Amino acid sequence: MEPSSLPFLVFGAPQIEEAEIDEVVACLRSGWLGTGPRVAQFERDFAAFRAVSPMQVAAVNSCTAALHVSMLAAGIEAGAEVITTPLTFCATVNAILHAGLQPVLADVDPQTQNIDPAAIEAAITPRTRAILPVHFAGRPCDMGAIMAIASKHNLVVIEDCAHSVEATYRGQPVGTFGDFGCYSFYVTKNVVTGEGGMIVGRSEDQVARARILALHGMSKDAWHRFGDSGYKHYQVVECGFKYNMMDIQAALGLHQLARVERNWRRRDTIWKQYDEAFAALPITLPMPSSAEIRHGRHLYTVMIEPERCGITRDGFLETMTAAGIGTGVHYMSIPEHPYYQQRFGWSPEQWPNAMKLGRATVSLPLSPGMSDQDVARLIDTVRATLSFA
Ligand SMILES: *Cc1c(COP(=O)(O)O)cnc(C)c1O
Repeated sequence: MEPSSLPFLVFGAPQIEEAEIDEVVACLRSGWLGTGPRVAQFERDFAAFRAVSPMQVAAVNSCTAALHVSMLAAGIEAGAEVITTPLTFCATVNAILHAGLQPVLADVDPQTQNIDPAAIEAAITPRTRAILPVHFAGRPCDMGAIMAIASKHNLVVIEDCAHSVEATYRGQPVGTFGDFGCYSFYVTKNVVTGEGGMIVGRSEDQVARARILALHGMSKDAWHRFGDSGYKHYQVVECGFKYNMMDIQAALGLHQLARVERNWRRRDTIWKQYDEAFAALPITLPMPSSAEIRHGRHLYTVMIEPERCGITRDGFLETMTAAGIGTGVHYMSIPEHPYYQQRFGWSPEQWPNAMKLGRATVSLPLSPGMSDQDVARLIDTVRATLSFA
């Protein structure tokens, strides 16, 4: 194909509008940049969005941080096992390790790409204390089955909702089934604060502890110490971390969250255009959604298998790049990485579904900021790349 003269279509480009630009400027002019009134407002808005009490949410500076302090606040004893998926971002597994716990991988269902409840059951040992499901690409996990396993074995459930802020399972938002739900507002995610995350918890006491852990283990946050009611003493009650969200970040989040539905509808439209345009191509498309779920429409992933496509996955990525289209890979399975191989002796073949998916998968751009022309260009490029000449 001809190299493209059009501008590079950046994968996962955020949609930033005047409202959040003005809010960031107003935040800067206010002189209050750190954790303050805008973070408090963002927490209240997020609580209302999730239909939980404001005492059940805590804003932090990443989903990784949210996962880490949630596991600590859940009171899981050191060295206990946490079952998670091999088809996830490394942060999921690293957070388990930072919490002093032992990750145990349970393979995914090849269709949904989500952790398979039967594999969870098979991975349970006397040391298992928690399940950490990831609602992959925006598709809710089988929370009916997962919560049944958790209650049968008395396990904590921490949901990684980094892809799935809009997703529901049987009408209930993901992140509200388990003890904790952890959200990401990283630049490529569906709600963007630059860097940022949110904890939603069932227990107000555990959320209060997570909040303390996220700010040095201090009993009062800076807004309460230095705000307009005068200086307040604080006490350090445990050895915490520096994971607080800034008001500059919340300034973005307030307006991003207000547009979450509009952006979802735009991505849903693009999703359906891809489904239709690619139906006849020799690639595997995302599984259709059942009536039981609402898909978060975060990642449109297709499987490029050389036997069917006449091109390797990496060859396809290179062709797209040359055509000026940014793509992603979500994800090479966790045991493909040398760190986990060396530390745990894992090899990818032990989780064959995640391995096969990880070696074939390509995420196509799916941003609410894409124009109709961008969508048409993407479709034409994919078709041209996969047509057997
Ligand atoms: C992005 C992501 C994270 C980490 O989110 P951050 O906010 O960047 O820390 C965790 N899990 C999954 C599945 C992700 O995609």
